[in-house]
Amino acid sequence: MRATYATKCSPTVEAFLGESPLSLFIGGQWLSSKGKKTFRTLDPGSGATLAEVHDAQAEDVDAAVQAARQAFVGSQWAQMDARKRGEYLHRLADLVEAHKETLTEIEALDVGKPRPQAQWDIENFSATLRYYTELALHVSYREPIPVPHHEARTVRHPFGVCGFIFPWNFPFLLAGWGISPALAAGNTIVIKPAEDTPLSTLYLTRLVKEAGIPDGVVNVIPGLGETTGAALARHPGLNRMSFTGSPEVGRIVAEACGRNLVPVKLELGGKGAAVIFDDVDIESTVDKLVGAVTLNTGQVCCTASRWLVQESVYDQFVQCSIDRMKKVHIGYWNDPSTEMGPAVSSKQMDRILGYLEKGRKEGAEVLLEGGKTEVPGKKEGFYIKPAMLAGSAENVAAREEIFGPVPFLLKFGSEDEAFDVVNRSPYGLANSVWSKDLERANRMAERLVAGNSWINAHNVFVHGVPYAGVNLSGMGGGVLGPQTFLDYLREQSVVRPL
Ligand code: NAD
Repeated sequence: MRATYATKCSPTVEAFLGESPLSLFIGGQWLSSKGKKTFRTLDPGSGATLAEVHDAQAEDVDAAVQAARQAFVGSQWAQMDARKRGEYLHRLADLVEAHKETLTEIEALDVGKPRPQAQWDIENFSATLRYYTELALHVSYREPIPVPHHEARTVRHPFGVCGFIFPWNFPFLLAGWGISPALAAGNTIVIKPAEDTPLSTLYLTRLVKEAGIPDGVVNVIPGLGETTGAALARHPGLNRMSFTGSPEVGRIVAEACGRNLVPVKLELGGKGAAVIFDDVDIESTVDKLVGAVTLNTGQVCCTASRWLVQESVYDQFVQCSIDRMKKVHIGYWNDPSTEMGPAVSSKQMDRILGYLEKGRKEGAEVLLEGGKTEVPGKKEGFYIKPAMLAGSAENVAAREEIFGPVPFLLKFGSEDEAFDVVNRSPYGLANSVWSKDLERANRMAERLVAGNSWINAHNVFVHGVPYAGVNLSGMGGGVLGPQTFLDYLREQSVVRPL
């Protein structure tokens, strides 16, 4: 049973949490972990325990991979016509939409997100699932290859069992981005959600069952990184692996997959820049950037964490930013006026506060102090205020990923100077360029070394437009684009000499 739970929630969510300890989902069955170990997931907004969750052990991971293997071979899922498979996946999307309120509440509680942000994540899941399900109908699975003296063709098949390890910041949305192309292509999957935020993925298992998706096609094994995650990453029964998280753990996962020669896709961290030229409308640019850097309490891989401002408008921009940042309403997820919730855990809160301290010690100018704060009635929540630092691009807070609502401000003169500072980062996920001069903005956007460049906006995700990182931010293809679907099909050539 749950230990403590201070906040009133809907009867459906209450009943779901009341099933604590929540089970693994393997081969279409809800199971306890071998050894009956559990871990706790907390409400970061109140510090209360939401639920105990079964902690999958290596044997459970093995059982999940075996179940996915059996479903790949035996359930017809892989052989099924894309249209037929699409009926199941659209049904799942329908169910996610029908359970939107419940999923929104679960996601908001588990991550600490304001309700509208959590709702957007849930809606995005079903949109992603529908996008890839439709795309699957328009891909050619057999293509002739025109070569002399041979009859030749390429045939595309699903790979088999695909593993997924997800982080805690967008549990449901990222699950959608990851698993939708794999499932639509006919693969079977094993998901390890983050231990801090496993709840929405566990709720999804019910909808998978209700949608009639054959048992074993989708398996969910919650657990800790060093045990459950590691056991999945090194499992020789995988055909593909996808990891979303930090570069440090990405390396470990890639090494483990490399030993088994399992192809791996990594979506990693970032240190995104916003390059702001002096012709922008300052107020509206500040508004959008404050929105970007406080979204999900700054715990967004591609957030705008370095703001490079052209020197002639720097002071004005800084003042306007401070004023706006001070007004960000910090609160509990179900308060309609909340713009920013808590950090996801005390560990993450300490990491953010630690970076403020380290940055200051290295000589950063503190433009806005930040620090821990309290929300009335939620004394134990992991709340922090937004902060702003400025100074040298070499400062630790300007170089490393803080993963919090902390932009580092830098002044630049020329386009080349800005280009040099942005590209000095070892990361390469996403940057934005802000200017009324679209020729300049486009020029700059193309020069910046990253998987994504946005113009006059930050955090832009569109189904059909690939989203990927380069360098320290990732490898292996990215998500959201049509190519991601093809990544989940292995190509085979069939040739007959004439
Ligand atoms: P993390 O790397 O600590 O954990 C990610 C996942 O890996 C979790 O499920 C965790 O349990 C698991 N894990 C931990 N140790 C493991 C191990 N030894 N073997 C296998 N799995 C293990 O990351 P996090 O703190 O959950 O998330 C924050 C990071 O994720 C940030 O760096 C952020 O930028 C990145 N991120 C990237 C994207 C993207 O699309 N590029 C999206 C979201 C988050």
